[in-house]
Amino acid sequence: MNQDVFDTFGRPLRDLRISVTDRCNFRCTYCMPKELFGHDHIFLPQEQLLTYEEITRLARIFVRQGVRKIRLTGGEPLLRREIERLVHMLAQVPEVDLTMTTNAALLTQKVQALKKAGLKRITVSLDSLDNEVFKSMNDVDFPVQRVLDGIEAAAAAGLKPVKINMVVKRGVNEDSVVSMARFFAGTGHILRFIEYMDVGHTNGWRMNDVVPASEIVAMINAELPIEPIEPNYRGEVATRWRYRDGSGEIGVIASVTQPFCRDCTRVRLSADGKLFTCLFAIRGHDLKELLRAGATDQEIVDYLAALWKRRTDRYSEIRSENTIDLPKVEMSYIGG
Ligand code: SAM
Repeated sequence: MNQDVFDTFGRPLRDLRISVTDRCNFRCTYCMPKELFGHDHIFLPQEQLLTYEEITRLARIFVRQGVRKIRLTGGEPLLRREIERLVHMLAQVPEVDLTMTTNAALLTQKVQALKKAGLKRITVSLDSLDNEVFKSMNDVDFPVQRVLDGIEAAAAAGLKPVKINMVVKRGVNEDSVVSMARFFAGTGHILRFIEYMDVGHTNGWRMNDVVPASEIVAMINAELPIEPIEPNYRGEVATRWRYRDGSGEIGVIASVTQPFCRDCTRVRLSADGKLFTCLFAIRGHDLKELLRAGATDQEIVDYLAALWKRRTDRYSEIRSENTIDLPKVEMSYIGG
């Protein structure tokens, strides 16, 4: 039986983000800096990862509790072997909008299999069109053109609209904001600007590194006039803007300067089966242990319902310079 659950602030559970691996083929300086994720870094061993069967079982249980959107992420989800098999299994779960976030390094070769398996849409990360800037951010010498090829392959395969995530970091790629907007206007793809967030500890985040959403909007509006539009649904993370000349829309994700905790309906499942009720949570709840100890579906339903009902998370609303030293988990582990 399906039963929506609500937390202490009356927020329902709607979105499930599943990290399928903590490995990545990029070393983005703001996410998995090389100095900390070098050759000697120990990633999760295979037996610690949830199997596709375990993930699908949990997904079905989450759907019984109100989840309507599942996003596969990581780490880099296309690095997990036969990811299309998991996509196929999740695509059989009724009433779910299934999507994925990827750096697109392997997308051109994988996109047909993903589409055939039942993936509905895709989000691709791209932080600049300038090769030097992009390479300095991905830190593995990966060229812009191959990401653009992946985006076009996804659109051609029908994974539309393609969303493009650009994290904006002060002094690093803020000069790419307008050129990115200009490039993607009129393509049908939806570019989303993301304020650089204080996830994890390894990126050395400081408030001064954040380019506020208001500034991003002003930069674009000065060159390409835009106006705000209504959200698609409650809890949508991006505020939506459209170009006044009709050449499409963009999104702005202002989780630092305009936090949206009050509408947060998201939960995150790490690759090793820990559940986090906030991107900034300190501790995960071990679902793998429950699964592998032989819990029934009903026992897991009850466990999740109890967990969600006592949820009080609102980190971004109480964030301040003082919170940067609090213990946090890395985004590559918990899933972006
Ligand atoms: N590897 C995939 C990718 O690159 O899209 C999926 C995982 S990645 C952690 C998901 C998204 O989180 C990417 O768009 C990335 O740019 C974003 N991200 C990572 N660290 C971030 C941070 N500190 N602030 C804001 N966004 C961040």
